[in-house]
Amino acid sequence: MVELEGMEARLFREEARAWLKANFPPSLTNAPSIHFVSDRRAAESNPDWCLWRQRMAEKRWGVPTWDPRYGGAGLTEAHGKIIGEELAAIGGFNPIRSYGTMMLGPTLLEYGNEAQKLEHLPGIATNERRWCQGFSEPGAGSDLASLQTRCVDMGDHWLVNGQKIWTSGADQADWCFALVRTDTSRKQSGISFLLIDMKSEGIEARPIILISGSTHFCEVFFNDVKVPKANLVGEVNQGWAIAKRLLQFERNSLSDVKAEITPLAPLAHEYCGTDLLGRIDNPDLRTRMVRNAMRHEAYLATVARLTRESQSGGPSNGVSALKNLWSGIIQDRSELLIELMGANGLGWAGDPYTDAEREATRAWLHSKAFSIYGGSYEVQNNITAKRTLELPA
Ligand SMILES: Cc1cc2nc3c(=O)[nH]c(=O)nc-3n(C[C@H](O)[C@H](O)[C@H](O)COP(=O)(O)OP(=O)(O)OC[C@H]3O[C@@H](n4cnc5c(N)ncnc54)[C@H](O)[C@@H]3O)c2cc1C
Repeated sequence: MVELEGMEARLFREEARAWLKANFPPSLTNAPSIHFVSDRRAAESNPDWCLWRQRMAEKRWGVPTWDPRYGGAGLTEAHGKIIGEELAAIGGFNPIRSYGTMMLGPTLLEYGNEAQKLEHLPGIATNERRWCQGFSEPGAGSDLASLQTRCVDMGDHWLVNGQKIWTSGADQADWCFALVRTDTSRKQSGISFLLIDMKSEGIEARPIILISGSTHFCEVFFNDVKVPKANLVGEVNQGWAIAKRLLQFERNSLSDVKAEITPLAPLAHEYCGTDLLGRIDNPDLRTRMVRNAMRHEAYLATVARLTRESQSGGPSNGVSALKNLWSGIIQDRSELLIELMGANGLGWAGDPYTDAEREATRAWLHSKAFSIYGGSYEVQNNITAKRTLELPA
């Protein structure tokens, strides 16, 4: 990674700080970062969110390191890091961050042809074209290569039939990057990677309601869906390698949330009170909160070390371990938050609960999903054992 040092770094930091101060709407300070396509309606009903997305898109700082031909600002990783740090410092977030920037974009940059890059990356760089991920199927989750959605070569187009499940935001997405079976006689080497327009005839997305009350994902049905030949990424039957790389990008982004979590201590003071020394008046809770904060610090140090060690510039096998570490930290933190709020931490709707209490309950329920999506906890441990620790199978 090219380092930006000394005066150059200082000047760019000042420029970023000034631009963000002038352009980030203060009303969005510390707002939860809305980057999942499933939150699209809520986000777009807020004029300040739309303005912020538009400004970042025009500045091209949503994907600062991408080539300007594809909608980026052509900056280095070091510039991108400074922009991220300055955003965090003002309680801001990147409104361009999406499944497109986190997963498909980096994958197309590696595997897409020039026409595909020019067609799809600019829409991702402005967050106007929203993507969903059509990988999982009822019989193919951890064992993803068992997928059965059929894709047949009809000469002038592909014909897709089958069902996906757990497809986040499918009902609000414009496009879907999907894994399809182009050869039934082979497993991994019979899979292809296809880009499908969600407006195509024959696609139905049915939302599924989660325990947290939201409808994060859908089951998606493909009935005789025609897809142009040009929408195949890479070669026929060679999609598995592309999928594995995309999953690395996904895990990297799931564990790449840096310092995004707000400290629990002020809330603990408020709900639990303080002892004579001014400490949180619950020694056991205090100990577990400190432990969680220490794990968070250790996690950030590990992310920094792995970033330095990564020669390729892209995510390494270490992202599986990071994803599990991060899931654990978030889940523990959600438990702690509920606990320190006491009975109020189980609020669901209406009085006497505050918005923050209701949100804490829902976030706690949603946190259960962290160790499932993007690849389950056990499967990530298997990958770490095999590829990082090189343990015998
Ligand atoms: C909130 C959420 C959003 C999601 N969004 C998407 C999306 O947008 N697109 C998409 O394609 N998918 C999505 N998924 C699906 C997700 O990727 C799968 O749920 C996940 O890969 C696990 O697959 P499964 O649910 O079929 O569980 P299974 O694979 O059936 O696993 C069940 C249990 O068995 C364990 N297990 C399985 N195999 C092994 C093994 N070899 N060794 C040890 N343990 C094993 C698992 O760890 C797990 O605990 C989402 C899931 C969630 C919860």
